[in-house]
Amino acid sequence: MRRLDLRRSAPALITPGMTDASPQPPPPLRAAVVPVTAFQQNCTLLWCTQTMRGAFVDPGGDLPRLEAAAAQHGVTIEKILLTHGHVDHCGQAGVLAKKLSVPIEGPHEADRFWIARLDDDGRQWQIPSESFEPDRWLDDGDTVTVGELTLSVRHTPGHTPGHVVFHHAPSRFAMVGDVLFRGSIGRTDFPMGDHATLIESIQTRLWPMGDDVAFVPGHGPTSTFGAERRSNPFVADSRFG
Ligand SMILES: [Zn+2]
Ligand SMILES: [Zn+2]
Repeated sequence: MRRLDLRRSAPALITPGMTDASPQPPPPLRAAVVPVTAFQQNCTLLWCTQTMRGAFVDPGGDLPRLEAAAAQHGVTIEKILLTHGHVDHCGQAGVLAKKLSVPIEGPHEADRFWIARLDDDGRQWQIPSESFEPDRWLDDGDTVTVGELTLSVRHTPGHTPGHVVFHHAPSRFAMVGDVLFRGSIGRTDFPMGDHATLIESIQTRLWPMGDDVAFVPGHGPTSTFGAERRSNPFVADSRFG
């Protein structure tokens, strides 16, 4: 059996809430990031250490690698969570949900038009992609569960109108899709994208989670909200003094 080489494909094995001091009880939440598709989209495998039940956040493609990652960590997948309707984030979500017989939660219903065009977008970008109907649309202030974990949902339009982010406050951890990146922010030149709305989403829905919150962006390396508030050229506090 070939072992999944997580180091090459996914250098980030994140353990939110875990400190250097040892021995410690295992953290309630663990996460591993697996970049998928030609866009190197950060799919997060997220799990509850009490139950070893987990979720994929934005399983856009490369399903064999995702299933291998879940098996490697001994995680039973119970649902799929989606931040938004772009093909690299959810092109294969419907296929995976059917295969694993698990529900899809998210994004916000304002991204229905993006999910409806997944077949066309998949052809255009040459990414295997199928449209689907989520089992649950999410709204600002909702919560989602993974095992015994409860994550809060914030609606963060701007990159897409139905974009949501997932926040686990006890772990100081968030998954923010294409809203915010290390040193950058999401594109807003798509249909229904809006730059001012995106900035407002970041300032009013992400920053209040706290400077010490670590986040997984939709692409590229992880960061913290505090680091972005200090140095991100688009949304640093110094730009808005
Ligand atoms: Zn996107
Ligand atoms: Zn993306």
